[in-house]
Amino acid sequence: LSGGEYQGRVIEPLDHQEIRYAIQNILDDLGKFSAVAEKRFLNFETSSPGSDIDQQYDWLFAGFLKSADQAESMLRRYQASDLKNYRRSGIILLIISTLTAVFLTTYLYHLNKLREKHVAEIEGANLEIEDKNKSLDYLAHFDPLTGLPNRVLFIDRLQQSLIHAERNDELVVVLFLDLDRFKNANDRLGHHSGDVLLTMVAQRLKNTIRSEDTVARLGGDEFTIILSGFSSEDQAISVTNAIAKSIIEVTGETYLIESREAHVTSSIGVSIYPKDGDTAEKLLMSADMAMYHAKATGKNNYQYHSEELNRQSQARLQMEIDLRRAIKRNEFYLDYQPQWNLSNGNLSGVEALLRWNHPEKGIILPDEFIPCCEDAGLMDKIEDHVFETAINQYAEWQKDGIDPGRLALNISLVHFQNRDLVDSLVHTLTRHNLKPEILELELTESVLMENTDITHEKLKQLKNLGIHLAIDDFGTGYSSMSYLLNFPIDTLKIDRSFVSRMDSDESAGPIISNIIFLANSLNLEVIAEGVETQEQADFLYEHGCQYGQGFLLGKPIDKDKMTSLLLQQAGDNVSMLDASRKNGIVKH
Ligand code: C2E
Ligand code: CA
Ligand code: CA
Repeated sequence: LSGGEYQGRVIEPLDHQEIRYAIQNILDDLGKFSAVAEKRFLNFETSSPGSDIDQQYDWLFAGFLKSADQAESMLRRYQASDLKNYRRSGIILLIISTLTAVFLTTYLYHLNKLREKHVAEIEGANLEIEDKNKSLDYLAHFDPLTGLPNRVLFIDRLQQSLIHAERNDELVVVLFLDLDRFKNANDRLGHHSGDVLLTMVAQRLKNTIRSEDTVARLGGDEFTIILSGFSSEDQAISVTNAIAKSIIEVTGETYLIESREAHVTSSIGVSIYPKDGDTAEKLLMSADMAMYHAKATGKNNYQYHSEELNRQSQARLQMEIDLRRAIKRNEFYLDYQPQWNLSNGNLSGVEALLRWNHPEKGIILPDEFIPCCEDAGLMDKIEDHVFETAINQYAEWQKDGIDPGRLALNISLVHFQNRDLVDSLVHTLTRHNLKPEILELELTESVLMENTDITHEKLKQLKNLGIHLAIDDFGTGYSSMSYLLNFPIDTLKIDRSFVSRMDSDESAGPIISNIIFLANSLNLEVIAEGVETQEQADFLYEHGCQYGQGFLLGKPIDKDKMTSLLLQQAGDNVSMLDASRKNGIVKH
């Protein structure tokens, strides 16, 4: 409009008023259009076709084209009338079309870029969704720690195997493996190393089976294995035997984790399709049941599922139901068994023994129901009640001026592990105004096996309070000796199996005399349980055993009978020594 230079040519200012006006119009329209186009571009994602801004954009573009059209026809007319201006008007036309082309090209370019960006974004999102789906799928089917199939995939694969087996008349074997005392190792090593241990177990299991067989982790320290393709039971059993044996062997080998050694063993239950179940769930349950049987038969072994086992487990389930009812209705009571000082014949203490008065079955002894209580997680509650009842009874006796000596209480592993044990004992004793020294806790191997810092700390606390600590059933556990070094023990209780075998088994006598010798040299008290005959009592006494307990000296009796016995003891003022001399219980 104002003239200038263009590609080396001089352009004179446009002096034609009408054309000036038309071109000014084009420029104005172009300005408005470009503003709206930019706005539309920036809001591309939200401005849908047909939206306000979109319509405005179309409308302005049409306006721009119209002005450009008008300017062009005007120029043509002008050009025809005035040939000398041809060059000038040609250039103007050129500028207009160049401007339009440049604008449109840039605009389309941006639009394309934007579209590409959107397409890329959508593709990216798709990939991400795919990845997410993949990892969700992985998490749904695999155990993230060991990378083994999880329960879901295991059941799925087992179902596939069963379908295949049914079609081909084959057998399928399911192994259910549970690590023994893994909790112990986990507590000792810390959870991180516990996880490493599980990964190592997983690897060893994978190495033991054929690649086409499945090993899965059900959770915690439970693993399952599917062996398939057997044409006869004989074949299935002989392969399973070999695999189970080697699993027990390899999982039992030492684990080296961050330069610390760890040991675990495993218990395995086996079920076979079709005889032990025709669905994946039933087979898993049968194998689980058999695994429990393996635990009950000393751990570190494998057991097959059987009908007998099935019956037992039904009975177990029923007992669990009965036990829960028994807690509610308080069907438990305590018997007390006297403990005697063999050198002077005085009563030295009483051991509280739990009994269950079953409404239909009558009195049930603890060996029959305690394992079930422990499995069902009921032991803690029941034993709390035992402790409370026994301590309360002891306080009653003391109030009546009777001195029962020491009160011996059996403590189970879960109860010992209860965080509040020490506080709760102190509380109960204080409430009854009793000294901690009156108590003797009889610890079993299961408690001492948990050789953790917590165990040490708790035993120390109990000991510092003045509570006596005895090892029950001493001699039966396989590492009893090390307990003597590790724990602050006061008393050894010689297991009744040694005493009862004294007459029949030649080695029983020397074992007993050595336990007594050991106890005496370590300044520990020693008490023999299960003393049934005079000969046994004599032998024990002669070899330096201070205390005895057993049917010969007194059976477990209820609290009323125990009260009479204690009164008789105190009233007669006759020491058991005299009585026993008369009866020939203790010879000198
Ligand atoms: P234990 O601690 O070894 O208790 C001694 C067991 O031997 C008692 O059996 C007792 O009746 C029996 N016994 C005593 N003298 C003789 C004898 O001369 N000959 C024979 N053959 N047996 C004798 P019981 O009462 O059936 O208790 C069995 C086990 O149950 C106990 O063995 C103990 O481990 C457990 N138990 C009993 N009460 C409790 C409790 O409150 N908590 C826990 N955790 N365990 C308990
Ligand atoms: Ca005991
Ligand atoms: Ca015992």
